[in-house]
Amino acid sequence: MSTATRYQRVRAQLDEECASAGRSPEDVLLLAVSKTVDVDEVENAISAGAHAFGENRPDELVRKQAAFPDEHWHFIGNIQSRRIKDIVGVADLIHSVCKLEHLAKIDAAAKAKGVRQAILVEVNVSGEESKSGFSAEQMPQVVRACAALDNIELKGLMTMAPRADADAIEETFGGLSSLRDQLTAFISENGWDISLSELSMGMSEDWPRAVHYGSTIVRVGRAIFDEAFE
Ligand SMILES: *Cc1c(COP(=O)(O)O)cnc(C)c1O
Repeated sequence: MSTATRYQRVRAQLDEECASAGRSPEDVLLLAVSKTVDVDEVENAISAGAHAFGENRPDELVRKQAAFPDEHWHFIGNIQSRRIKDIVGVADLIHSVCKLEHLAKIDAAAKAKGVRQAILVEVNVSGEESKSGFSAEQMPQVVRACAALDNIELKGLMTMAPRADADAIEETFGGLSSLRDQLTAFISENGWDISLSELSMGMSEDWPRAVHYGSTIVRVGRAIFDEAFE
């Protein structure tokens, strides 16, 4: 099966999953995670209707964005301070902000480039030590910090589910969704102009469940780009 066919298959499955969850297909972005493939496969995905791609290394983000500047490019990887200036303004959305000190640096880089950088904050809902992300307890402080920075637009939350049984995965997705509701109440108490409209959750193995818990961005790599994925 070609990349184009696999992309179309995932897109059709996503439409079905949205229907079964009572959601509109336009409400869930299928982010094609192209981190393991080259521009030829990106082009194949574009031919099948893909317009949003995820990358986890700054160099690859910059290279592929330059090759396809009309498409949307998201950064989903580990953020290093010294690379923030390369990511800001190139990524339409940064999913993986997980250190307080990076907020001010992203804000400064955005100001220098004359852009307002859209970000998501990564939350370690499952509490696994191996996972990056803020704890739920840290999140009010993180939102407060974002509210004070003019060149950052906090748009929502991101998480990675554990590689575990269905219950643990659903607990993670449900946990992110209820954390969003709590933070939305906190934001409105403070009168801040922040809307946590995006929930980035779900990958090749688990995205169908995420759709039922309100995911607005599913990040799908192998199911689109890996021939061996079933
Ligand atoms: C690689 C990656 C994905 C895609 O994972 P697949 O299992 O290939 O779908 C999604 N999110 C993040 C943060 C990733 O690094």
